Amino acid sequence: MTAKLANASLPTDLLAPLRHQGPVPAGELVSCRLPTAWGDFELHGLIDATTGHEHAALSMGPIADGAPVLTRVHSECLTGDTLFSLKCDCGPQLQGGLRAIATEGRGVLLYLRQEGRGIGLVNKIRAYALQQAGADTVEANRLLGLPDDARDYAMAATLLGKLGVQRVKLLTNNPAKVEALQALGIEVSERVPLRTPANRHNQAYLKTKTDRMGHWRPDADTPAAGAADEQHER
Ligand SMILES: [Zn+2]
Repeated sequence: MTAKLANASLPTDLLAPLRHQGPVPAGELVSCRLPTAWGDFELHGLIDATTGHEHAALSMGPIADGAPVLTRVHSECLTGDTLFSLKCDCGPQLQGGLRAIATEGRGVLLYLRQEGRGIGLVNKIRAYALQQAGADTVEANRLLGLPDDARDYAMAATLLGKLGVQRVKLLTNNPAKVEALQALGIEVSERVPLRTPANRHNQAYLKTKTDRMGHWRPDADTPAAGAADEQHER
């Protein structure tokens, strides 16, 4: 790569600021363009100085103009986001968030690396094994001595600050997330429900989220972000 860049026909003055070698300092935001199935986004990445985790954000349009920005704060779910799991609704929520932002032409999706509500992938697999034996999602975590929800949204505030976002219209069904962001000083001017389809594998999980974890159930009569082409049962 270095040799190729040194090969002249590229505008070196333009490339110079991008050619820093060595590790990127924690907390420094790096960005590039990222075309996706829903449109062209800007992809941003940052290393968390406290945990060493790498977090990402996808943005579209002018988000630093002070007006409320359609925002999805998504926590990593390897099984749902990338392995096509039907046990949860994370994959459809991620896709619904990006679709809603692309439809509006302006917004940001934060992708926080806190797998399994913050307990990590291996613990999540242990909890899934307990669920297989009959426990619900809350019981399984408690049987393992783990918190129901160990997510931390401090990095959301950091990322939004670095992106110049001051107010958000938050795409979520989770009241605890609204409260957590407000406690971090983020102004949530509106909550936008995110509807995802139930299937026979995640029905019990979605019910536990509304019955035991206090999530709002998106109103079936109100058009919600993410509903557009996800009507079929999966
Ligand atoms: Zn998930």
